[in-house]
Amino acid sequence: MTDVLRHSRCCVLALLSLIAALCGANDLPIIDNPCATALLASLAQTPAFVERTPVHIEGKPAVRLMIVLRTNGCYFDKGDSGCTICNYKQHAIDPRRYRVNADNLSAQLDLALQNVDEKIEQIDLLTLGNYLNQSEVPLAFWKESMARLSKLPRLKRVVIESRTKFIQESNIEIVRSALRADITLEVSIGVESSNDYIRNEIIKKKLAWKELEKAVDRLAAFRDRKVVFQAYLLIKPQRLTEREAIEDVVQSAVDVAIMAQKKRIFTRIAFEPVFVTHDTELEKEFLAGRYHPVKLWSIVEIIKRVYEHPAVKRNPFVTSIFVGMSDENLSSGRKASSCSHCEAMLLRAIEAFNSTQNIGTFSLLVCPQCRPEGEVAMNFKLLPESMSLMQIPPDHTGSAPSGISAVIRTADEQTVIAPTAALNQTLGAKVSHEWRAIQLEGTWEFSEVGIISKITQALADSHVSCLAFSTWNTDYLLVQESQVLQAVSALEKLARGY
Ligand code: SF4
Ligand SMILES: [Zn+2]
Repeated sequence: MTDVLRHSRCCVLALLSLIAALCGANDLPIIDNPCATALLASLAQTPAFVERTPVHIEGKPAVRLMIVLRTNGCYFDKGDSGCTICNYKQHAIDPRRYRVNADNLSAQLDLALQNVDEKIEQIDLLTLGNYLNQSEVPLAFWKESMARLSKLPRLKRVVIESRTKFIQESNIEIVRSALRADITLEVSIGVESSNDYIRNEIIKKKLAWKELEKAVDRLAAFRDRKVVFQAYLLIKPQRLTEREAIEDVVQSAVDVAIMAQKKRIFTRIAFEPVFVTHDTELEKEFLAGRYHPVKLWSIVEIIKRVYEHPAVKRNPFVTSIFVGMSDENLSSGRKASSCSHCEAMLLRAIEAFNSTQNIGTFSLLVCPQCRPEGEVAMNFKLLPESMSLMQIPPDHTGSAPSGISAVIRTADEQTVIAPTAALNQTLGAKVSHEWRAIQLEGTWEFSEVGIISKITQALADSHVSCLAFSTWNTDYLLVQESQVLQAVSALEKLARGY
């Protein structure tokens, strides 16, 4: 909400919302309480969440605006039903106290759209339930909202979300017709897992796989009119160990990819790491010490495995992989995390992947404190210039050549490592050309044992010889030009733990 709060009108409404929340207006007696009604009416004018995040659209990095409109909540989340991981009820307005109408939603959209600038190319127009359920979101607002988004000239993709029963051709037709023809309409479904037991017994989604397939068929009927599909997959619902959660979500992504190809519909796979919100069944497990949110390292493993899986990699219908990192500003124990040394680095890497789809983002990431056993992780960069080594007289003094260079001096000799073009070769007794430098990017300390030896061992296993040299912050390897490809391939394999 910070972006929304930039605007004074919004400040007033946010203040009213705060008052409503503080007064517990949702909890005040239902009958004839004008104060509660006024407060809830003001709350109905403010979206539940507004957030900007990087995304990948049509092969390029872009920015999305995620808007979660405040409604009366999900029809499915009543009494004992409702998904075990969902807390949207807490943000919704009790329909017995105030009915959110099309005008309210329009006012919420006004506020949220104040955050649109030339960078926004995707808008997720989500609700606290199902956009396509007319009893949650009035039909008039479907048309109005799509017409308004159509006026944003740079917009390329609009995302809505719904349970399968509302994904009917007649509903899609209304929304599709109201949206500018060149904007992709992406319809998202909370698939959560392709494992029936996890989806329906643990998460209590009450969604049969066949029903999902039929809804995707209905979407696919609009494939020629830029209607695409997004599958939300949960990472680590309760009762799953870390390893079980990784295997479940990798398999689920593969199953979604296979379905996308079978139905011939462009599909995005969106991973949603589970976070522990208040007043949910999951919170009880968490407070009892029986649930721990997924580790960021596990998310990295999931992305890498899914990205490289043949069912995804060679599948023209899987357009991208996304990791939703919105977390309602929960404290760090309640959401995906890592140790204090690497958490920010991993979050940045995941965010970078979301916008670039470049798996190299994760190459050789490292944490000296908590990286997974046996995995050496860091970034590496092959530097472009051709390098040379040269032996020069021990008593020669002079400034170091420009570019990346090193001078190693003993009583008997001096060796210079430098870009070939920068060397004064008239000084050299012996010269060796055609080397390339690989820069290792990591944050480990000098005291960190074994990293360089693992790297050099991996190169040796690929019959690549190398020389290593370091500055205070950075390590470099020199490999012969003729062995560069083998070296890069060995380092990539090492980075991915293969
Ligand atoms: S269907 Fe979606 S909004 Fe409804 S209870 Fe489940 S997760 Fe929450
Ligand atoms: Zn760490």
